[in-house]
Amino acid sequence: MASTTRGAQPRGVRDESECDAIVIGAGFGGLYALHHLRDKMGLSVRAFDGAGGVGGTWWYNRYPGARVDAPSSPFYAYTFSKELVNEWEWTETQTSQAAVLAYLEHFADRFDLRRDIQFDTWISDARYDENTQRWTIETDTGDRVTAQFLICAVGALFVAHKPDYPGINDFAGECHHTGRWPHVPVSFSGKRVGVIGTGSSGIQSIPEIAKEAEHVTVFQRTPQYALPARNRPITTDELSQYRENWDSLRATMCARGGWPFKTSRRRASEDSPAQRRARYEELWEQGGIHLAINSYIGVLVDKDLNHEVSEFVRDKIRETIRNPETARKLMPDYYFGTKRLILDNGYFETYNRENVALIDLREDPIEAFTPSSVRTREGEHKIDLLVLATGFDAVSGSMLKLNPKGRGGMSLVEKWDERFDTYLGTTIVGFPNLFMIHGPGSPGVFFTMPLGAERQMEWIGNCIRHLHENGLGAIESTPEAETLWDKEIKQIADHTLYPHTDSWYMGANIPGKPRQFVGHLRGSQYFERLAEVAEAGYEGFAFEEVR
Ligand code: NAP
Repeated sequence: MASTTRGAQPRGVRDESECDAIVIGAGFGGLYALHHLRDKMGLSVRAFDGAGGVGGTWWYNRYPGARVDAPSSPFYAYTFSKELVNEWEWTETQTSQAAVLAYLEHFADRFDLRRDIQFDTWISDARYDENTQRWTIETDTGDRVTAQFLICAVGALFVAHKPDYPGINDFAGECHHTGRWPHVPVSFSGKRVGVIGTGSSGIQSIPEIAKEAEHVTVFQRTPQYALPARNRPITTDELSQYRENWDSLRATMCARGGWPFKTSRRRASEDSPAQRRARYEELWEQGGIHLAINSYIGVLVDKDLNHEVSEFVRDKIRETIRNPETARKLMPDYYFGTKRLILDNGYFETYNRENVALIDLREDPIEAFTPSSVRTREGEHKIDLLVLATGFDAVSGSMLKLNPKGRGGMSLVEKWDERFDTYLGTTIVGFPNLFMIHGPGSPGVFFTMPLGAERQMEWIGNCIRHLHENGLGAIESTPEAETLWDKEIKQIADHTLYPHTDSWYMGANIPGKPRQFVGHLRGSQYFERLAEVAEAGYEGFAFEEVR
């Protein structure tokens, strides 16, 4: 394996070294990449993260109320090691941010990963050399490292989006983005708090903030559907059953896009309207995402069925909110499920509190900020503390921030100027030996993310092994394969109602971002494709001999 070399160093470069693979990111994907490449494959690996510790998204998103809103304990976790599944005690059905972070810290310690991760280090440059078939990265701490492979586990939801309202910087009070929450406690006590944004982060944090703050003003642009998370302690019986049946649960997760349980194959037409209503009620009571994925086939495809489920959830919101005017403003009017589904813990009930007010920005837009207020068309709202729950430049944003330079020095910003083209969501034409975890065009957030990251990384590992065993120096996807992949992703998305809605899935939350569906909606099919591509000798890729 390659060794570390320290020779004469150019000015500004403190440390120069070589290894087999560089991993960027120490979240779920990056930690697993380091473990897999180093411990399972015996490669020399160095990992970097700009954060001060492991955790990725769970390192940053410490806002009050942050917890997993996917099928959670013990499924939102690594699945590859039964020992790990057996030894980690989850305590709640929807794991809190602190508990996920504790788990990832345990993972890093258990597999002795920290010795190869450099924290508090940003990659300032990443460049491919066609002659040596290697990547060189430079860091803001003065390191220069070269490696044959660059693994980008930079996170699908990392680049925080701050709205560019004119004068927003005039606000002189405390201001925190949910995705960059301070690591010291933020006090809301006695404060007037403004929250902009009602996606998952806003909806999770608003009820918690309202419990402590003197007053909360929520600035809502799009009303949302949210399903009750029904978080509760997980019982030891449940955990032992999951452990006993782990192999079959994992197999179900692989076959059903990350969902660990059997789902209904029933058609809506097989039931009467009253029977359907009863079924929705049952799934609503069950909580979590059951209503969305376990009612009838085609909720995200069939407009009439979607309308019926949408109306069911709207009724639930109407029943919950005492003030009819507030209820009216909270009525979602897009296709249910076509923005990322939200699981809430008392969000709608929060609007029955006397200290919470809702501003509908579609009727009463923000016009200005002063040092101590937000001014909308119809009034001025005094604020001591502003929370921006305004989301992320999702999926493509973190790769563009890294902006690697591929063949001929072409930057990713140039390459992705109009479309975020990839092949299999893991590779990019013009960027040999670079692999992404959860890149555009992969299932990412549509699949239980840790399992998806594991499986992508295992495929990448096999691909690297293929190169080594065959004396090959570089792999790169072909333009034809990339074009076909782009078409396939689009075709799958176009078959559904997703493209009808402005969402971060479509890049619509970032002004000027190309409109393109950023994920692969059929997780199980995606992993079958990965396997087929490998079996066919890495179809859609071109290889170079070692130079
Ligand atoms: P988000 O879903 O993109 O929501 C951002 C919110 O800010 C939306 O309500 C959006 O309104 C609003 N907004 C954006 N720009 C605005 C502007 N200029 N003026 C007014 N409002 C504006 O972001 P998020 O809530 O941070 O969630 C992002 C994703 O992170 C989620 O979808 C989920 O995948 C993940 N997440 C997961 C968890 C978890 O527990 N696992 C928790 C939080 C987040 P519009 O709807 O009108 O654009």
